[in-house]
Amino acid sequence: MRCLTCQSISFLIICKSCQEKFLTPKIKKRFLAKDFFVYSFYAFSEIESLLNSKYQKYGDEVYKILAKNSFKPFSQTYLETYKNEKYFTALGIDDYPMHGFSQSAILAKSLQNKYFKAKYGLLRAKTRVKYAGKSLEFRKANPRNFICKVNNIKNKSNIVLVDDIVTSGTTLLEAKQSLEKNSCKISFALSLADVRR
Ligand SMILES: [Zn+2]
Repeated sequence: MRCLTCQSISFLIICKSCQEKFLTPKIKKRFLAKDFFVYSFYAFSEIESLLNSKYQKYGDEVYKILAKNSFKPFSQTYLETYKNEKYFTALGIDDYPMHGFSQSAILAKSLQNKYFKAKYGLLRAKTRVKYAGKSLEFRKANPRNFICKVNNIKNKSNIVLVDDIVTSGTTLLEAKQSLEKNSCKISFALSLADVRR
C-alpha cells in the first residue's frame, strides 16, 4: 500500500518516517471547568486529514496508528510523569461503531496496561446529531443524552474520558455530569486533538 501522507510504498498506512515526522505528540492541558481538564496530543489542524479517515474503510488502521503514537505512550509513562499511583477506568465517549469501528474504543483500548483498564459500550449517546461546524448554542440545545451503564464497574472513582476531538468541551462536560449522576468520579479527559490549540 501507499502511505497516506507521503504516498511512498509502505507496509503501514502511515509510514514510519511520517509517523516520526508528523505524529510526535505534544501534550497540552486545557481546563473545561474549574475541576476538570482535558489532555490533548495534537492540534486539530495538524492531523485533520487523518481524523477524516474515520469515514473511510481504512479509518481503524489510521486511528490505531494515531493511538499508538499518543495514548499508548501516555499510559506507559503516566506513572513517572505525573507521580500518580491511581488505577483508572477508561471510557470512550459514545463508542458505538458508526463506521464499522469506533474511534473512541480504539483510543481507550490503546491505554490498556496495569494502570488503565478500558471498558466499552457503557457510555452511549441517545442523540447523535453532528456537532462539526455547529455553534455552541446548537450544541447546548442538542445534548447527547448519555445512557450510562456503569453499575458493574468496580473502579468508579477514577474515570478517564476518551474522545478523538475536543472543540467546546460540551460533550465531555455532559458525559462527566451524566456519569456523576451515576456515582462516578471523573479524573480527567483525553482527546487526540484539540480544535482550540
Ligand atoms: Zn509517509
